[in-house]
Amino acid sequence: MGRHRVVVVGGGFGGLQAVLKLRRAPVEVTLVDRRNFHLFQPLTYQVATGALSAGEITYPLRGIFKRDRNVRVVLADVADFDLDARELHLRSVSAVPVARRLGYDTLVVAGGSHYSYFGHDEWRTYAAGVKSLESALAVRSRLLAAFEAAEAEPSADARDEWLTFVVVGAGPTGVEMAGTLAEIAQHTLEGEFRRIDPSSAEVLLMGKQGVDGVYSADPHKHPDAIKFDDLTYDEYLSRNLKVADATAISMARDYKLPMIFFSLDTDGTIVKVVAGERIGTTVHA
Ligand SMILES: Cc1cc2nc3c(=O)[nH]c(=O)nc-3n(C[C@H](O)[C@H](O)[C@H](O)COP(=O)(O)OP(=O)(O)OC[C@H]3O[C@@H](n4cnc5c(N)ncnc54)[C@H](O)[C@@H]3O)c2cc1C
Repeated sequence: MGRHRVVVVGGGFGGLQAVLKLRRAPVEVTLVDRRNFHLFQPLTYQVATGALSAGEITYPLRGIFKRDRNVRVVLADVADFDLDARELHLRSVSAVPVARRLGYDTLVVAGGSHYSYFGHDEWRTYAAGVKSLESALAVRSRLLAAFEAAEAEPSADARDEWLTFVVVGAGPTGVEMAGTLAEIAQHTLEGEFRRIDPSSAEVLLMGKQGVDGVYSADPHKHPDAIKFDDLTYDEYLSRNLKVADATAISMARDYKLPMIFFSLDTDGTIVKVVAGERIGTTVHA
C-alpha cells in the first residue's frame, strides 16, 4: 500500500506551515497553488507603493521544498472538490498541462480570503486591493501614473486632482499604505518632476462603517455619547477611543497624516469628503 497522501491547497501562510510541519512525516505531500510562489502578504502594500520590488516579497515554492523528497508542488487552479471520491478537480494555469483530477487521503484547504467591499462591490473596479501580487502591481502602476499625469497636465486644478489619493480603511494596512505614499511624495520623488511638486500630494486617510465619526463612547451602546468634530492625535490616544486602534493613530501621527473618519454607509459621502466638505471627525496634529 502506498503512503498516506496529503494534498494541501494554497501555498500562503496557512498552507506553507502545514507542509513545513509534514515534510518529515511518513506521508506524501502535494502542494497545489495557482501561483508558483509564496507571497508575503503583509508587505504587498510596499510593492503597491513602489517601495519594494515584487521579488522581495515572493519566494518560489519549489525552492522552499527542494530538499524535501516527499513534497511535490503542482501548479494548478483548484476548480472543485469531489469529497465523496476524495478528489480535487484541477484546471490548467498558463497553459501548463495538469492532470484533471488529484486524489487524496487527507485534504488541507488554505486558499486564503477575498477582499470585502462591505456592500460596495461597485468600488471593486476603481479600488484594487493589495492582497495579491497582481493587484499590488496594478495599484503601483496607477499611483505612479497619477504623478506622471499630473506632470503632463497644464491645468493646476486638474493637477491637484491627480495628486489627491484616497485610502479607505484606517486599520494598520491603510495607515501604512498612506504613510508610505506620503513618504514617496515627500522624499522618494523629490526633484524628479519639473512641473509638479510631489510633496504637495494630498493623502487623506478615511474609513469606517456603522459610525459617522469619532464619539466619546460607542454610540450604539451609549446614546448620550458625544461626537467630536476634530481631535488631535494625542487627545484621541489619551481618551482611549476605539474607532481606530491606537497603533493606527500613532502611525498616522508619525507620518503627520490627517485622518478623517466618516460613515461609508451613505452614498456620495466619500466624494464630499474628498472635495473638502467637513464631514465626520478629523484627527490631526
Ligand atoms: C497588506 C496586508 C498586510 C497584512 N499584515 C499582516 C500582519 O501584519 N500580521 C498578520 O498576521 N497578518 C497580516 N496580514 C494577513 C495575512 O497576510 C493573511 O492572514 C495570510 O496571508 C492568510 O494566509 P492564508 O494561507 O490563509 O492565505 P493566503 O496567504 O492568501 O494564501 C492563499 C494561497 O492559496 C492560493 N489559492 C487560492 N485559491 C486557489 C485555488 N482555487 N487554486 C489554487 N491555489 C489557490 C493562492 O494563490 C495563495 O497562494 C496582512 C494582509 C495584507 C493583505
